[in-house]
Amino acid sequence: MSRKKQFKAESKRLLDLMINSIYTHKEIFLRELISNSSDAIDKLYYRALRDNLQDVNREDLHIQIETDKENRTITIIDNGIGMDKDELEENLGTIAKSGSLAFKEKLATDEKKEQDVDIIGQFGVGFYSAFMVANRVEVTSKKYGEENAYRWTSSASDGYTIDEVEKDTYGTTIVLYLKDNTDDEDYDQYLSAYEIEGLIKKYSDYIRYPIKMEVETQKQIETENEEEPKYETVQEIKTLNSMVPLWKRPKKDIKQEEYHEFYKDKFNDYSNPQKVIHTSVEGNVSFDALLFIPGKAPYDYYSNEYKKGLQLYSRGVFIMDKAEDLIPEYFRFVKGLVDSQDLSLNISREMLQHDRQLKIIASRIEKKIKSELTLMMNNDRESYETFWNNFGLQLKFGVYNNYGMDKEKLQDLLMFYSSKEQKLISLDEYINHMEEGQEYIYFMSGDSVEKIDKLPQCALVKEKGYEILYLTDNVDEFVMQALGTYKEKKFKNISQGDLDLASEEEKKELETKAEENKDLMESIKEALGDKVKEVKISSRLVNDPVCLSTDEGLSFEMEKVLSAMPEGNPYGMKAARILEINGNHEIFHALQSIYAKNADAIKDYADLLYQQALLIEGFSIDDPMEFSRKICDFMIKAAN
Ligand code: ADP
Repeated sequence: MSRKKQFKAESKRLLDLMINSIYTHKEIFLRELISNSSDAIDKLYYRALRDNLQDVNREDLHIQIETDKENRTITIIDNGIGMDKDELEENLGTIAKSGSLAFKEKLATDEKKEQDVDIIGQFGVGFYSAFMVANRVEVTSKKYGEENAYRWTSSASDGYTIDEVEKDTYGTTIVLYLKDNTDDEDYDQYLSAYEIEGLIKKYSDYIRYPIKMEVETQKQIETENEEEPKYETVQEIKTLNSMVPLWKRPKKDIKQEEYHEFYKDKFNDYSNPQKVIHTSVEGNVSFDALLFIPGKAPYDYYSNEYKKGLQLYSRGVFIMDKAEDLIPEYFRFVKGLVDSQDLSLNISREMLQHDRQLKIIASRIEKKIKSELTLMMNNDRESYETFWNNFGLQLKFGVYNNYGMDKEKLQDLLMFYSSKEQKLISLDEYINHMEEGQEYIYFMSGDSVEKIDKLPQCALVKEKGYEILYLTDNVDEFVMQALGTYKEKKFKNISQGDLDLASEEEKKELETKAEENKDLMESIKEALGDKVKEVKISSRLVNDPVCLSTDEGLSFEMEKVLSAMPEGNPYGMKAARILEINGNHEIFHALQSIYAKNADAIKDYADLLYQQALLIEGFSIDDPMEFSRKICDFMIKAAN
């Protein structure tokens, strides 16, 4: 016997969790093990076909289930690729799952038992789920092409051993020693052929290889007397699954639930997909595609760990996982698979990039996803909003990336918050709402919808009855810039440049006022020095005393985004600051009278107004202490 080895810390915790699990769907262990077997057969099948292996009978690849009522074991046997000693060690000794990182984090934070259920449900923990029903597991495996076979044995928490054993054929055999029945749990059910058949139908029907089991059936015995037929019980090997891949079945026969179960099993998600897209294309290039938009962004979606791509099959034979060229970057959230008879089995990842057929498939898939999203947007807005909250950011990046190359494809899928509708709307809807004579698509940026709604800059545009798009994502203004126009209407940032909303009369009035108060404005500018580019009487303020605006070019929002970048604002780029004062506000009259009495006193007024404008705009002020002191001085003066 070889020396006992201990599991890595996380694996041990996971195993403890499995062993003591109160999870109510323990039956999924069978699905997990069968799915592993099927993957292992996939690997061998592919190699056999590609390398024309003579010693692999592709017709005979299968999974077999055996039960032993006396010893209370259930055995799952496959003649797939198998594992060598190192692979047994690596694959079964540690958690090697793609979700392992999140899993480890969750283990680290969730000490409480009740959370087990959640963890198991969420991560579908693969091989280790065997320990939910078994207290001892033996995995005997021989890798295809190797001489030696090995057996991995574990009773969970006491570690595992790996020993060399005899095994004639390649593949893997897993024996589960079932736990003793308890008041709440009947483990004997997994010894019943009837139960197992039900589980296979429920979870593993689409597995491409036969899942065989010996079952008892009643056979009629031929007798003289036809009136009284007689039966005998015989043992018979039966294939339990239909073996038709889900994507090959007629759409009308597939229940939504079947798609959902398939998705969750195959793509390791614990929630149902938001949208299932099942499509078959016949033509120059024929293919079936089964695509899913997840109901939630995967935990690692916006990290480097996340890899996009679809599974690729050729005539039902699995070729590779995550063929990335099948999906454009901006739809990288889509999961699923493509099966085509027009692809060569020998295709490699490198070849995929240049494969003409694959390019056609990819382009059809892209169009299909877009049209499905458009349908969802038009016909099921609630669903689309959920999608948008999960993946809208991805589409925005899509518009902005590659110098806006893909913007036309994506612009109709965008949504922004509307000041008027108080909900997300599309750009097309904005255009439809536009008022007579409205020239621009107005937008304003800020931290939140609530904050933007209160900004002084918005008042005039609202007063004119125009709708404003409220932008709250960092990337939003870059999206607007990349778009430039939509249906020939330009985008306009309402804190930037001249809004050009005043009537001729109003313009005249403003000019006169500016002329009359030229000295006052100049002295405020002088007091503020380089901090501002200009001080002027505002044409955009309605009720509020001051605001900042900037001219065309870099906007405040872009400056903030640049400054928040990890490497810092690279060129120290700043948006020009223009201090706008409301000529119709009481404060303006106060400024006029102070200036008339004591021109020097205007300095503190200028300073306070500027700092307020900064705060309103969401910038921080250089010297809050100084600001506070000045306010206090004013308060004291007011009281005396
Ligand atoms: P996952 O299947 O998600 O990778 P598992 O814990 O279920 O996680 O399995 C870990 C690994 O062990 C698999 O990726 C595979 O490499 C290997 N494995 C499991 N079962 C088998 C099997 N029946 N035949 C060959 N390899 C297997």
